Amino acid sequence: MASSLDIKAPVDGVLVALDAVPDPVFAGGTLGEGLAIDPLGNTLHAPCDGEIVHCARTAHAVTLRSTGGVELLVHLGLDTVNLDGAGIELLVEAGQWVEAGEPLLRFDADQVAQQAMSLITPLIIAEPSGWRLTSLDTQKSGETVRQGEVIMRLEAPAASPNVAPESDEASPRQTQEVTRDVILALAAGLHARPAARLRAIAHEQDVDLELVHDETHVDARSLSRLMNMGLVEGDRVTLIARGECATTALDAAERLLSEAEADEPVASAAEVPTAEAGAGQLAGLVASQGLVVGPLHHYVAALPTVPQAGDDPAHERAALGEALEKVGHSLKTALAQAKRGARSSEAEILEAHLAWLDDPALREAAEGYIDSGRSAGQAWKEALDDEAARLQATGNKLLAARVADLRDLQRQVMACLGTASSMPQVPAGAIVIADDLTPSELTALAAQRLAGICLVAGGTTSHVAILARARGLPCLVAMGTVLESAEGDMAILDAERGLLEPQPDSASLETMRKRIAESERARDADRESAKQPATTRDGRTIEVCANVAGGAEATLAAQDGADGIGLLRSEFLFLDRESAPSVDEQRGEYQAALDALGGKPVVVRTLDIGADKQLSYLPLPSVANPALGVRGIRLWASHAELLESQLRALLALQPLDALRIMLPMVSGVGELRALRQRLETLAGELGVSRLPQLGVMIEVPSAALCAASLAAEADFLSVGTNDLTQYTLAMDREDPGLAAQLDVLHPAVLRLIKTTVEGAAGRCPVGVCGAAASDPLALAVLVALGVDELSVEPSRVPAVKASLRELDAGALAEQLSAWLDLDDGATVRERLKSWLEAPVVA
Ligand code: PEP
Ligand code: MG
Repeated sequence: MASSLDIKAPVDGVLVALDAVPDPVFAGGTLGEGLAIDPLGNTLHAPCDGEIVHCARTAHAVTLRSTGGVELLVHLGLDTVNLDGAGIELLVEAGQWVEAGEPLLRFDADQVAQQAMSLITPLIIAEPSGWRLTSLDTQKSGETVRQGEVIMRLEAPAASPNVAPESDEASPRQTQEVTRDVILALAAGLHARPAARLRAIAHEQDVDLELVHDETHVDARSLSRLMNMGLVEGDRVTLIARGECATTALDAAERLLSEAEADEPVASAAEVPTAEAGAGQLAGLVASQGLVVGPLHHYVAALPTVPQAGDDPAHERAALGEALEKVGHSLKTALAQAKRGARSSEAEILEAHLAWLDDPALREAAEGYIDSGRSAGQAWKEALDDEAARLQATGNKLLAARVADLRDLQRQVMACLGTASSMPQVPAGAIVIADDLTPSELTALAAQRLAGICLVAGGTTSHVAILARARGLPCLVAMGTVLESAEGDMAILDAERGLLEPQPDSASLETMRKRIAESERARDADRESAKQPATTRDGRTIEVCANVAGGAEATLAAQDGADGIGLLRSEFLFLDRESAPSVDEQRGEYQAALDALGGKPVVVRTLDIGADKQLSYLPLPSVANPALGVRGIRLWASHAELLESQLRALLALQPLDALRIMLPMVSGVGELRALRQRLETLAGELGVSRLPQLGVMIEVPSAALCAASLAAEADFLSVGTNDLTQYTLAMDREDPGLAAQLDVLHPAVLRLIKTTVEGAAGRCPVGVCGAAASDPLALAVLVALGVDELSVEPSRVPAVKASLRELDAGALAEQLSAWLDLDDGATVRERLKSWLEAPVVA
């Protein structure tokens, strides 16, 4: 056997260093060392002689093994697994021998480039088998190479240059065996996290690690077997390690098992909800205001539907393998992102999920079910059901809590093998408790007439929160605690003070019912007067418009007395479907909103996709900071066709002078100019002579600071306080840990809003369409800063109008300049509260 192995370029193309590949799984080296090529051709060729050991079902990746045992992964493009083979033709099959340069797969470069994240093709040494990479042509990064040119060289292992590296099975590691007894000091027993760490230690030190207890031997590679040992604090366990680094591995394992574990992550100061929870109460952040009493219902999304019976077992095993690989890939991407973002507790959970996914015992159990006739999806379901039952039966609370993680994995893998299921039924009038919800889950749940929502995760400006407010559905988020109350228990949800009280006594129930009746009376009175304009005590009339997702909500807004639609979030038309809506479909929805408002202004925001709002049919590059990436108006550079169809639908509306078009995520006036030019050209083509008004959102600090130049060319500005707060404070609006600090009343955010109003003065009006417009305290400050319009959830229009009528905006404005020098949002909030509560001097 040769002592060196040349790896040749599989295609003509431009060399890309692996760490420059825009995918953390490759860039971070998780899959191994290597290089990438941005291909100029349309066929990938074998980089060396070898046996094809794996071809992805989706044809995008091929692994081959050289005679020396080196395994090379040739991976066409990034995220190409999602193409499901479209545009790719596999030219080899597993088991086949290929010579260097033989074609492996052919692809339609245009189709793959358009539909995948990137064509950049990594070439990874997935299994070096002891071979050492001696030449890595990263210095050539950026240079063009020809197919067949040598781009990497590996040297054979020095100790056995003429022998193929041995696999574990062929020669178990006998080099050194070390044994040690350890008393378990983990208060919670051997649960998922330490089990995952044990497994990692074995992997890092390259040893076989076994745990022995009560004569049961368990291989540390199996997370489930480790956990199923049911080890508790005080148990004596024998550790056996085999391999060169056996002693080092045992030192680490002993430290792990014999030292008391650091506590489970507890809520940091930032995670502590705003209200103090009394005995028997749980606190959260108010995402949508309201008071309700109702039975608790724990919501768990239905499992995807999978066929019961399987096909040929070999086929089902392969399908299971593919699904596990796919889920593993997305977990690794999420893990790399969590690590980059220093979100260590999230990273640990993802690591545990990955370990579970890799667990040979779980896979064996599922394959056992496949052999008895189940489909891959059903087999995985049953294997994980069994595992969950075993964890629950241990009686260990921490292990039982991991069942939720297991269910998560169960769902993710089944989703790759089946179809989504319909929504579970929720009892009418229930208070729904869930870990988190997607926007589409919330929409479907809301249709079932539930009373309120409590989420363990989430933030007050997340899209779920926005949807809850739009429906007037009381909602608490970022509760941070797993709610363990029994199904059907009566509870009070006070989404004014941010408290959930399961099993209240009869006196509390009575008090709450009185408060509910009072607030309903107040709401009815507000609704009566909502049709009238809202004029402050010092004589300023503020337009109170509504934020809606489409025509149906626009009808509710008109009934609630909205002076117009201040924000129609058009992206809701594009979510939860297989492809983008047609021009006609869009026109129908926008026209319904215009019709509902009967000539009052309707602001339609062009598609705002990216970051937390993703479309399955529009894969965006997975980048480390999506909120700082391609989103909102930036999308048009790469997806002009979407803008084109949206503008066509908008220009077909009647009457056009009621329509206003608004652009999201604008960071400078150039974007507005380009869009106006596009709109004018299109209007010319369509024979539209009078253009609708064109405005921009002020959502990023640069737009606020340059408001004067934007206002000189825009017809209106609208401050998106949700994003403006996120970008000003550099706090993710979706991060529950930061939700309590993400305060629009932070002096920095207020200063930017002030700059916006001053920049626009005399040029164009300024509105606010972020959540702050309906925050009873913040809205007063916004008006005092000089904004002309507030746009709020339809159900909040009456209350906002009522509170504006109580406000002396001029008097508040006199206080403001001093408040802009305060330390933080909480201090501003305190001052504001005292000022608003002080008796009015006539
Ligand atoms: C905002 O950012 O305040 C806004 C209204 O836009 P969205 O919440 O849809 O991002
Ligand atoms: Mg926004």
